[in-house]
Amino acid sequence: MPDVRFGPRAPGAASYVGVMTRSRAAAPRAASRADLVVTGCTVLVHDAEERIGFREDAAVVVRDGAVEAVTTAAEAEALDAAERLDARGQVALPGLINCHTHAPMAALRGLAEDLPTEKWFNDVVWPVESNLTARDVELGARLACAEMIRAGVTCFADHYFAMDAVAAVVAECGMRAHLGEAFFSSQGAEGRERSLEFALRHRGSAGGRITTALAPHAPYTVDDADLAATAELAREHGLPVHLHAAENRDQTETSLARHGVTPIEVLARTGILDTDVLIAHGTGIVERDLPVLRRAGGRTAVATAPRGYLKFAWPTTTPVRALREIGIPVGLATDGAASNNSLDVWESMALTSLIQKSTEGDPRWLTSRQALHHATVQSARAVGLGEQLGGIAPGRRADLVLVDLTGPHTQPVHDLAATLVHSARAGDVRTTIVDGRILMRDRELLPVDVPAVVQELGERLPALLDRGHGRRIQRYDT
Ligand SMILES: [Zn+2]
Repeated sequence: MPDVRFGPRAPGAASYVGVMTRSRAAAPRAASRADLVVTGCTVLVHDAEERIGFREDAAVVVRDGAVEAVTTAAEAEALDAAERLDARGQVALPGLINCHTHAPMAALRGLAEDLPTEKWFNDVVWPVESNLTARDVELGARLACAEMIRAGVTCFADHYFAMDAVAAVVAECGMRAHLGEAFFSSQGAEGRERSLEFALRHRGSAGGRITTALAPHAPYTVDDADLAATAELAREHGLPVHLHAAENRDQTETSLARHGVTPIEVLARTGILDTDVLIAHGTGIVERDLPVLRRAGGRTAVATAPRGYLKFAWPTTTPVRALREIGIPVGLATDGAASNNSLDVWESMALTSLIQKSTEGDPRWLTSRQALHHATVQSARAVGLGEQLGGIAPGRRADLVLVDLTGPHTQPVHDLAATLVHSARAGDVRTTIVDGRILMRDRELLPVDVPAVVQELGERLPALLDRGHGRRIQRYDT
């Protein structure tokens, strides 16, 4: 059995270090037929201290949608399997998780360019969103799912409107998703009730691939009473909360000037931080928020989508290092394609590493292995699936992707983690598997008819983009 190679100690990151161990692989049940065997590949694995390692000439055995074993290619040869994928020359990774997006906004990709945040919302996005129909949402989500499957994303956390349509697309296309029906206080109690009704109705649907959350938009669009009522509902029904908060420094400063508290302190005083909460962005998290977050009664996580922060010229980014020091996982995200222009989590991984080095002024911080830890273990925790996803190991769901590193831009490989983070691209993903089902095989996308989606969306765009009515769904005023 080849040795598993784990990386060097990552400075400043206690949980990445530990003794060298070999990954324990449960023996596959040779007697009965496996559903799928992926063989001949290098497999990204984690050791008991969550350090990233690579197991060469390995095989992944899948049964009932879960990983049954990670074994050697030689041992896998003897196994009976309904389906066998020869993955020689490829690396098997846990599927990427997009921890915060608005999938249907793929329909608005490139519509509002080179604008400050308030003009992006008030002049373009919120007027256009007042035209949205369930069909637009469905087509946008289908396009987004196609893009994500092709980029090796197997799960996404979505926060939008008309989410029944998104849930239907997820069920149909085979992805995994964590869904929440967004609401503003301007909708009255009805918005919150609809979000709850959606979360209860879809929880565990699509064969368990859909999990749900309550989804208040943000502390600047949902008032304290509404947030407090949301926290109550979360506790009563055992639901997590997914919302935008402290998105940028302006929001934090405005909140301090108007209310004397930061957005994170609003989440604390309304009880939201006592729930399991996924906070999108947090680039406006400031020093005084850190003890508040440390004391949070629920499981708190933050999703970072760095491309949009650069594009909006926000002065800060998610304080990944400070959050790490207080034990808060930071998952990778893209936000919607209307601000980010792409749903490429691979790019979010590379940008997170680069921006963290630049912001901290430390080339040793956020190494490639740390970036892969964010992409796997921390992203899985961020969407509340830390036990089910984030690793290729016995008992985890079989959500994995195969990446081809034979291209000139990824050769030679001196450091596989660095090749994956800084040289490989989303287009190098050849095969995407969710719950043991192959959604893309050798670049052939199986569940979505992209030309048909693009054509119908194109026909609908004039009505969707009309801003002549002067309406908007909300007004952005941090
Ligand atoms: Zn967002």
